[in-house]
Amino acid sequence: MQKLDLIVIGSGVSGHSTASAARKKGWSVAIIDDKPFGGTCPQWGCDPKKVLVETVKIQDAFNRMEGYGLTGNSQLNWKQLRDHKDTFTKPISEATIEEFEQAGIHVYHGHAKFVDDYTLEINGEKLHAAYILLAAGASPAKLPVDGFEHLTASDAFFELDALPEEIILVGGGYISFEFAHIAARFSSKVTIVHRGNRPLEGFDADAVSHLVDYSRRMGIDVRTNTELESVEKQGNTYNVHVKTGNNAEQLTADIVIHGAGRTPNVQNLGLDQTSIAYSKNGIKVDKNQQSISAPHIYAAGDCADDGKLPLTPLAGEAGSRVIKHMLDEKQQDAFQHVQPSVCYTMPGIASVGIHSEDAAKNPEDYTILDQDLSSFFTNKTTRLQEGYSKIILDKQKQTIVGAHLFSPYAEHLINLFTLAIELHADIQVLKSLLWAYPTAESDIPSMLKKS
Ligand SMILES: Cc1cc2nc3c(=O)[nH]c(=O)nc-3n(C[C@H](O)[C@H](O)[C@H](O)COP(=O)(O)OP(=O)(O)OC[C@H]3O[C@@H](n4cnc5c(N)ncnc54)[C@H](O)[C@@H]3O)c2cc1C
Repeated sequence: MQKLDLIVIGSGVSGHSTASAARKKGWSVAIIDDKPFGGTCPQWGCDPKKVLVETVKIQDAFNRMEGYGLTGNSQLNWKQLRDHKDTFTKPISEATIEEFEQAGIHVYHGHAKFVDDYTLEINGEKLHAAYILLAAGASPAKLPVDGFEHLTASDAFFELDALPEEIILVGGGYISFEFAHIAARFSSKVTIVHRGNRPLEGFDADAVSHLVDYSRRMGIDVRTNTELESVEKQGNTYNVHVKTGNNAEQLTADIVIHGAGRTPNVQNLGLDQTSIAYSKNGIKVDKNQQSISAPHIYAAGDCADDGKLPLTPLAGEAGSRVIKHMLDEKQQDAFQHVQPSVCYTMPGIASVGIHSEDAAKNPEDYTILDQDLSSFFTNKTTRLQEGYSKIILDKQKQTIVGAHLFSPYAEHLINLFTLAIELHADIQVLKSLLWAYPTAESDIPSMLKKS
């Protein structure tokens, strides 16, 4: 049996850096992945999604500006765009393996399972390690629905040869809305089926309702309070049975995509053979990302139950914590930063910090400022008259503690608000700053006014 200092399960953002850092320290390290190496973000997540979104945005602007300074005939081509996306995603696995091998890290392709606290089995071989990092990510949640096997995972959306004419997205999270906005621009007929009253729950309710209105106006059928009952395949299409209240209905689609949440990969790891504490929310860890029940085990990223959002920057941050504690024995402070999140629809929505529902419960502590930005010059120039902001202030300190946006520039503006929150910037300074004009940022002083 091979004996190592560290085994890392998962080669995504949270596993990659730890394996490399440990090897640099002279540790013997093995890394295991059951999918192509490199993880979700660069292959089936953030990056391929952004490649599609950026091109679709250009076409979207073209359509708005046709006859207003643009003439010609520009059309989206899925196959070409997918091939362009592939130039980013396809080289990742080989490059990652090469990097590990050049560093002297043992690379195993296959599914790892615990035999006991210190031993893993992979492809019939047993590996033993002093430390094990679980960086195993997350997978689409199992849904208690007849015909669940007919749902297509988000990974496969990126590999489609053609974009189907009729698409149903199950679940009203950010992946569904982003895919819906892409597919609708390709003229697919798109339906989002969401069981709750309010989609995109992590975002501000008013920003979301602006986005839902806009999505409906552009032809996306957003159905709320609608339960998916079953899916059956009929020839090349699917009959999708849904229920809204007592009203049962059959929809049809060429593809049914799973956008109904992802759960930490804690099943099929053999965790019950070990003393590793876990729940459906992931591996239970402390602020050092160390298992609360087995000190030689660490977990980071989407598979860790650490209270952080399942987003790439946080998977990276958790990986850094593992490195500092496991390799350098440094105790970490509790995680205290704000994490912006963005839904890359067109226009997008973005959120950071305190939500207005929480602020509204304590009116003596917080001021909520909201503004309709739709008629602002910035949004008019390319004829996208959509925009809304909601900024939460600490009443006493006069600093920003939350920001929620619906805007064509949401993904950029939210980083500025994150900076303002982290630096406790005085709003009088932000209001009197000489922002370059005309820019989306020069609208910030107006967002800080009472409407
Ligand atoms: C469609 C989509 C869009 C996204 N967009 C964004 C975005 O815009 N911004 C953002 O910040 N985040 C986004 N995310 C989330 C982001 O991709 C994840 O938070 C991040 O990639 C998690 O990294 P990780 O290291 O925890 O796991 P991963 O990168 O998922 O890596 C885990 C790896 O471990 C493997 N594995 C699991 N179990 C085993 C086992 N037993 N044996 C061997 N291998 C195993 C998995 O197959 C996987 O390859 C998106 C995700 C998706 C799905």
